[in-house]
Amino acid sequence: MTCSICSREDREQVDLAIVSREPQRAIASRFGVSRAAVQRHALRHVSPAIASLQAERVEQGATSLLNRVEALILRTERLLSAAEQSGAVTTALSAVREQRELLRLLDD
Ligand SMILES: [Zn+2]
Repeated sequence: MTCSICSREDREQVDLAIVSREPQRAIASRFGVSRAAVQRHALRHVSPAIASLQAERVEQGATSLLNRVEALILRTERLLSAAEQSGAVTTALSAVREQRELLRLLDD
C-alpha cells in the first residue's frame, strides 16, 4: 500500500509535526489528510527510530534534570542520524538546533 504522506512534497513538515508530538488529529487536519494516514505513516515510516528513543528514555528513568537533558541530547543525536539517513533535511536541521539548545543548558 502506498503511503499518502511519504509521497507528499511537504512530508518533512508532517514528520516534524509527528516528531514534535503534535496530536495526530491536529496534524491530519492541518495537512488535510486522514488521521489514519498520519497514524500509519508515523508508525511505519517515522517511528522506528523515534519509538526506540522514547523507550530508551523511559528505561533510563531520567530523574534528574541533568539526566533528562542528557537523554534528550541522545535522542536528538539519534533523530539527527535517522533524519540524515532518510534525507529529511528540515528534520535534521531542527534536531541540530534542538541539540544546540540542550548543550547550552548543560553549559550553565
Ligand atoms: Zn509514510
